[in-house]
Amino acid sequence: MAPATQSAADALAALSEVADDPDAYVVRWKERTGGRAIGVFPMNFPAEIAQAAGALPVVIQENREPDSLGRNLLAEFYCGYTRNLADQAAKGTLDIYDAFFQADHCIQLLGAVDVVRSEVPDAPVFFGQLPTSMSDPWARDRALATMRSFVEEVGHFAGAPVTDAALADAIAVSNENRRLLREVYASRRAGNAALSSSQMQALVKSSMVMDKQEHTALLRDVVAGLAATPRDDRVRLYLSGHLSHAPRPELLAAIEDCGAIVVDDDLFTGGRYISTDVPEDGDPVEALAEWYLRRDAVAPCPTLVKHETDWEDLLVDAVETAGAQGVIVLMVRFCEPHMLYYPELRKRMNERDIPHLLIETEHEGLPVETVQTRVEALLERIRRNTAPRALEATR
Ligand code: SF4
Repeated sequence: MAPATQSAADALAALSEVADDPDAYVVRWKERTGGRAIGVFPMNFPAEIAQAAGALPVVIQENREPDSLGRNLLAEFYCGYTRNLADQAAKGTLDIYDAFFQADHCIQLLGAVDVVRSEVPDAPVFFGQLPTSMSDPWARDRALATMRSFVEEVGHFAGAPVTDAALADAIAVSNENRRLLREVYASRRAGNAALSSSQMQALVKSSMVMDKQEHTALLRDVVAGLAATPRDDRVRLYLSGHLSHAPRPELLAAIEDCGAIVVDDDLFTGGRYISTDVPEDGDPVEALAEWYLRRDAVAPCPTLVKHETDWEDLLVDAVETAGAQGVIVLMVRFCEPHMLYYPELRKRMNERDIPHLLIETEHEGLPVETVQTRVEALLERIRRNTAPRALEATR
C-alpha cells in the first residue's frame, strides 16, 4: 500500500530499508557520526539514557539468516530469538556494538546474554535487575535504584556523566517519537491510514534502531501523507503476542492476503513499545522508574506480576476499542512466559465470544499455506457469526 504523497512514500521506503537491514544502518550511523552504538536487549532498558550520552541505542533484532555457528551455544528449547542472538554473537554480527545493556526480562534471554558475553569479549555487558513483582511496596525504590545504576554505567561507558538536562531532552525526543507512532496506530484503527501490517511493523522496528530525531523527521512525512483505507469487507483482526522481535513480514502478509486487515496489536514491536511515555516533569531518573512501573499497567508483560491489572482484561478491552472482530495470537515456540499466560487469555476471549487463533512461530521455516488455511477458517467463522448481525442492521 502506498501513502498519498511522494515524500511520504520516500520516507516510508527509507524506514522500511532500515527495518529490513538494521545492521547496515548501525554501521552507516557510526561511520557518519563517529559515535558508538549500544546493543540493547528487549524489553525494558530505557534507551533515553544511552541517547542522553550521545550513543545510538539499538534494540537488537532477530536476523533472517538460518542459525548455524551458534546452534550449539544454546539448547534447542530456547526460543528462536534467543538462539538467533547466540548465532549472531558466534558469527560476529554483534561486533558492531560497543557495549550491551540488559534490563531484566526472561530466563532464556539471560542465557543468550551470557553467550554474548563470552562470544563478544571486547564489549562490556551490563545487566540491571528491575523488580518483577510490581505491586510490592519496595518496587518503586528498586526500580529507581536500577535506573540510577544504568545512568551511572552509561556515564562510565561514555566517559562523562549523563546529566539530568541531557536526560530530560532525550525523554522529550522519545516521547515525541512514541506520540507520532501512536498517531499512526490511531489513524489505522479509524481507517485513515492505508498501511499494511508489515509497513506498520517497519515503522516501529526502525524506531528501535534509528537515531530518534532522524526517525521522527521521516515519520512526520509519513503521517503527513497518510491516506484513508478504502472501505471494504476485510475482517478486522487484532494481533496479540509477546515476541521479543518483529514478526516476519511474510507472516503478516499471509494473514492479510486471506482477506483480513490488522487494525491493532499489543506486540513488543508495536503497541507495547510505544504504549507509555516517560513523565517530562520532575527528576528524569525518577521519571524513568515511573515509566517502567506505568508501562506494565498499560501493556502488562507476562514476565512481571502486577495485581491490579491483567493482560487478559486489557486485551479484550483493546479488541473492542479497535473494533476488531477476532484475534490472532502469535506465540514464539518455547516462549515460557507467554505459554504459561496463554490459558488466561484464551479463557477470557472465550468468555467474551471473541474468535481467536493461535499461531506458533519459529526462527526458521514459515508454513505459509498451513497458516493461510487456518486464518481462512478463522475468517470464515467470523463472517458466519457476523452475517446475521449485518443483515439485522440493514432491515
Ligand atoms: S520470545 Fe519469550 S522466551 Fe524469547 S526472549 Fe522473548 S520473552 Fe523470552
